[in-house]
Amino acid sequence: MKHIEFKAKIIEKGKNEKGKFVVLEPGKFYPDGKGGQIGDRGFIGEAKVLFSEENNGKTLLYTDKFPEREEILCRIDGNRRHTISALHTAQHILSAVLEDRFGIKTEAFHMSESTCTIDVAPVSVSAETLEKAEGIANEIVFANLPVKKYYANKEETEKMNLRSKHEVSGKIRIVEIPGVDISMCGGTHVDFTGEVGLIKIVKKEKVKKQYLRLYFTAEKRTLSYIRELSNIANAVSETLTCGVSELPEKINKMLSEIKSLKKENKNLKLNALKDIVSELSAEKGVISEREIDFEKGDFMTLLAMLSREESGKPFLIFSKKGKSVGIARGKNCALDLKENFPELFDKFKGKGIVKNAFLYAEFGSKENFENALEFARAKLKNHG
Ligand SMILES: [Zn+2]
Repeated sequence: MKHIEFKAKIIEKGKNEKGKFVVLEPGKFYPDGKGGQIGDRGFIGEAKVLFSEENNGKTLLYTDKFPEREEILCRIDGNRRHTISALHTAQHILSAVLEDRFGIKTEAFHMSESTCTIDVAPVSVSAETLEKAEGIANEIVFANLPVKKYYANKEETEKMNLRSKHEVSGKIRIVEIPGVDISMCGGTHVDFTGEVGLIKIVKKEKVKKQYLRLYFTAEKRTLSYIRELSNIANAVSETLTCGVSELPEKINKMLSEIKSLKKENKNLKLNALKDIVSELSAEKGVISEREIDFEKGDFMTLLAMLSREESGKPFLIFSKKGKSVGIARGKNCALDLKENFPELFDKFKGKGIVKNAFLYAEFGSKENFENALEFARAKLKNHG
């Protein structure tokens, strides 16, 4: 797209907490935030426009440095202006189709550097309705209808069937796509609907249970969106060695396989734990000891299972790898672990959990782990 070049005068210069700014005459740069749009970027001489805001009817253009001259050549980035205009025109088309064909009113419009949204009511709209609206909107794009911009006075606007109107004084700017939409609007728009490019509704979400927020793309943003989706789909289909259209079925199948493997694994683990419990219970002696190589979750399960055994002895379990020590007492053992092993947590700086019937402690250093294990072993033997 061609850049928009024009000569302008700097009528105000200043500095505030946001940075250095200038005000131009004529003020052709469209400001950030006005009417839900993002603003123009470009250059004022050599100075780069970073962002802008509307302030008391003036557009403050924040720049990286002050322009050298008072009368200066300015340039608005034409590609960016076209994308913004296309997205804004897409919003007119989508809002008009949703309202006229489906009775769904647009309550708000917002554009950012990466997304474009309209908030509509009612909050519940079916995917089928949205697809239909998207289809009709794109037919309007393909028809390449003119987008007319003109001014009218209050009496004239009263005779118009305006979709979007608000109280304004003086001359009123009208944007009309014949047969599709007629609105009051001060934003930037393309000249023909064909320039909007493919409109795609990409996401919907509920906002405060009041509105449905529709995210959409148009112009080059639709190409970026399709490219991203297509790259992801192709990469996943290559990894899973199947066609893109077979992905949902393949992924569902894998998920159910994972689910049954997890279940199988859980059963195997439980059986392994049960075997250890019966082996330890059957052992003779004052205490029973076992080194294991389990993660914390399984370690704790084993302690809980041991504490439910009809046994009169304590069980000492430890993991060198996890630097952790666990003690469980059988149901017929009177030893209170909470009362008898505070040293594991204060002296040896263990972290974990302690109940009357079992305790579990992890140690930060190998030394503390080994000392704690030796201490627990000696104390348990003495107790017995
Ligand atoms: Zn507009």
